[in-house]
Amino acid sequence: MRGLHLEKHRTDRIGWLRAAVLGANDGIVSTASLVVGVAAANAASSEILVAGVAGLVAGAMSMAAGEYVSVSSQSDTEQADLERERKELATDTKFEHEELAAIYVKRGLDAELAKQVAKQLMAHDALATHARDELGISDLTTARPIQAAFASAATFAVGAALPILVVLLTPRAALIPVVIVSAIFFLALLGGFGAHAGGAPVVKAALRVTFWGALAMALTAGVGALFGATV
Ligand SMILES: [Zn+2]
Repeated sequence: MRGLHLEKHRTDRIGWLRAAVLGANDGIVSTASLVVGVAAANAASSEILVAGVAGLVAGAMSMAAGEYVSVSSQSDTEQADLERERKELATDTKFEHEELAAIYVKRGLDAELAKQVAKQLMAHDALATHARDELGISDLTTARPIQAAFASAATFAVGAALPILVVLLTPRAALIPVVIVSAIFFLALLGGFGAHAGGAPVVKAALRVTFWGALAMALTAGVGALFGATV
């Protein structure tokens, strides 16, 4: 039973961990790419720094707004579904019992047992049972838009701070290669850590994030060099 408990604990943790790793990952990729692009256009250190900091703020705000809107609308939909279910439970109890029993039959119980399970679970907590087994809402207080928005912005900012720190500590002449190499290193570390914590293959995850990070930086470096040469 200990194994079972651990496994469950792991899946619980993956939700917020995945979001945190993704946020930091975005912060590193977009800020390092921005910095490399501006540096490739022959900007001075101070201009590169301003671009990096502006990128941090813009990215964090955009992550927060996106997350807030997405989690809010998910929450609205869930609330509307629950409200409809609550009404149905109050007005048509017999139908709701049959509906739930039918769901359990589909999942493999025989009709008699399904009826009993539906009856006992509905006696215990009818709304929570229908929410979970009919609507697929497992936790009635899952969606927290403000918290999600803040967490996204904060993890993005932490990721974005890494390449900015590198810009602060590196002489202008060596800036581009040092930002690229350090960003790939941070990405590999973060990807590996996220995979390890989630019980997924570590090397595969690290390679995947470094590939996309390297591609992003190569593209902005190319665009930056192009613009730097023409303007
Ligand atoms: Zn129902």
